Amino acid sequence: MSVDVAALGMTIGGQSHPGGGTFPVINPATGEEFATAPDCTPAQLDGAMAAAAAAFPAWRGDEAARRDAMRRAADAIESEAAEIARIHTLEQGKPLRESLGNVMGTAAGFRAYAEMDIPRHVVQDDEQARIEVVRRPLGVVAVIRPWNGLLGDPTPAAIRAGNTLVYKPSPSTPLASLAIGQVLASALPPGVFNVISGRDPLGNRIVEHPIPRGIAFTGSSQTGCRVNVAAAPDLKRVVLELGGNDAAIVLDDVDPDELAQRLFWTAFRLSGQMCLATKRVFLPRSIFDRAANALAKMAASVRVGDGLDPDTEMGPLTTEAQFDRVSELVAEALAQGATALAGGKPMDRRGYFYEPTVLVGVEDRMRIVAEEQFGPVMPLLSYRTVEEAVERANSTQYGLGGSVWSGDPARASAVAERLQSGTAWINTHAQSGLQAPFGGVKQSGLGSQHGIWGIDSLTDAQTVWQSRAGATTYPVA
Ligand code: NAD
Repeated sequence: MSVDVAALGMTIGGQSHPGGGTFPVINPATGEEFATAPDCTPAQLDGAMAAAAAAFPAWRGDEAARRDAMRRAADAIESEAAEIARIHTLEQGKPLRESLGNVMGTAAGFRAYAEMDIPRHVVQDDEQARIEVVRRPLGVVAVIRPWNGLLGDPTPAAIRAGNTLVYKPSPSTPLASLAIGQVLASALPPGVFNVISGRDPLGNRIVEHPIPRGIAFTGSSQTGCRVNVAAAPDLKRVVLELGGNDAAIVLDDVDPDELAQRLFWTAFRLSGQMCLATKRVFLPRSIFDRAANALAKMAASVRVGDGLDPDTEMGPLTTEAQFDRVSELVAEALAQGATALAGGKPMDRRGYFYEPTVLVGVEDRMRIVAEEQFGPVMPLLSYRTVEEAVERANSTQYGLGGSVWSGDPARASAVAERLQSGTAWINTHAQSGLQAPFGGVKQSGLGSQHGIWGIDSLTDAQTVWQSRAGATTYPVA
């Protein structure tokens, strides 16, 4: 099959559905509408939930069939990867090879979860009883996604666990997800993976809907808090992967040029629009100037352009609102006394392009430092003592990731131990994989993703207690 952007519908119960209307999808490299997407009606939302509920008993019941279907899903995504990636770059702006990496990563996720064993823990096995703890799927799970990525980790994890899904991409980037829904309609049984699109308040309607038993939400902390409240009345399970304001603490024993090479793209990849990007850099005074100049030199040399151009290293910001926000935060910092060693303003071309920016003379209280800027901006902050750097790094409501950079592993570990974040990296940043949990602390999230931790978040523990004693005895209450 091939993917036709103009004909992309929602996938509900394995069938393609147009919306009740459409909404525009903008190419951020031009700032112009290039396609429309279906706007889901309340009746279609009910239909998607009903389809997922109807598919649940059979999907939950046959683990071998689930694994087979997920392998087929991986093959199906891979076979259409080039076209899905092109669509994603058109709607999101990221370089085509990044989009292709996302699509192939989605296929790899389906394949990895298909092969993953979900452990059953036998906690007692003697003459009294055999007691086993088993993970059970929640039922229908709604997956709600932001505009910087595709299906993410919760989608294959939730499916592997035996849940059936209603999936909603961001209204800014709906098309690649709709395309994947269409592609998977031939690989997964009808109703297992329903994809709907629409402008908000669709997200809120999903969370308040009586059918789903779990919500896997990825997005801003502000919206995540609203989701948590909306899911509370009927106690839906909630997994929240939210914003971050990750700090990198550089110790005084690193080589500034080597540091710049390794640190730069952890902040600027995807134009800085990554939850786990480096967003604040703390440098000791002794190497501040050399590191700042090396980072600024790299920023000035980045090839910024349309993601479809193979030479492009960094695309535009994805939405006009994000472009305006980054422009405003940098302008405000400059007005308050900061200096741009590189960049510092929007690019003089159509689309949402912003110059890769390195700022010095910034202070912790400035919004470009205190808030999640989510753009191609690296604020550099100098510190006197490591103690002070750790305290400043931790003084935020966020707690997604943080990193320490040093040639001395013991020194770096001692600092990493004190970071209040879901992940503490040493000499790297923004890396994750299925072999370790990924999640945020404080207002960066609730629950974990990735591997067996992701499965745990989207399942319930059930205790299967088989008595072997002749007479059942009860503890005295
Ligand atoms: P957002 O919170 O504005 O929107 C996320 C999704 O929620 C969208 O699909 C949106 O339509 C939907 N939504 C909006 N209001 C809703 C409501 N009341 N109830 C339910 N759903 C609702 O986020 P965004 O601007 O699309 O994405 C950027 C944010 O996502 C950043 O803060 C970034 O750090 C975060 N993010 C986090 C992770 C992570 O794993 N921690 C990964 C990627 C992005």
